[in-house]
Amino acid sequence: MTEAGRVDDRTRLVRRLERSGHCERNSTARAMRSVPRHEFVPRDRRERAYADRPLPIGEGQTISAPHMVSMMTDLLELESGERVLEVGTGCGYHAAVTAEVVGAPSVYSVEVSRQLADETGARLERLGYGEISIRVGDGADGWPAHGPYDACYLTCASSAIPPAIVEQVRPGGRVLAPIGGVSQELVLATVGTHSIVDRSSHGAVRFVPMRRGTE
Ligand code: SAH
Repeated sequence: MTEAGRVDDRTRLVRRLERSGHCERNSTARAMRSVPRHEFVPRDRRERAYADRPLPIGEGQTISAPHMVSMMTDLLELESGERVLEVGTGCGYHAAVTAEVVGAPSVYSVEVSRQLADETGARLERLGYGEISIRVGDGADGWPAHGPYDACYLTCASSAIPPAIVEQVRPGGRVLAPIGGVSQELVLATVGTHSIVDRSSHGAVRFVPMRRGTE
């Protein structure tokens, strides 16, 4: 497929997401139109890159469906220049979408798998997102060196929002996370001083579970 064909595919995908209510902010639509999702999926899955489906990315992990990434970007109401912590870099697609909204130097991502982090670091560099910072480690610890963050999101499910993350998000900042085990809900929380002051649920979701320790 040609590059122009892929741009058309993305434009169509974003139009569908806008119609279904999964892409409401202009900044989200712009970001979803800009990031070449096919570059983030395994070569043999490229033809499916612009279908609204999750796809495998290796190590039993998956890249979320476009509507999930779009909806999460909308829910965090990110503004240019805001500092964002991501837990679960995976293939880097979601981080790239976030970088299109806030700017790559403001995106910090923690990935537990060294292999995924290395591959993804190289991919992001190649695609012009090299200023996104990646750390190998357990995202439950956050990344204290670069906080406080304006917002944080998890792309793996946890039984609760990790306390270290609540500490590293500024008062008034937001955390978005799939919470639960077998059944999960997408929770948007507002952080106060050292605690969560407000939370809302945004429906049932299915993310890979958070793994412990560096693998
Ligand atoms: N945002 C990603 C989705 C990745 S899937 C994308 O766009 O591709 C979830 C990711 O979370 C996987 O890469 C998995 O390795 C990672 N992960 C699981 N447990 C983790 C932990 N404790 N800390 C950091 N990353 C973790």
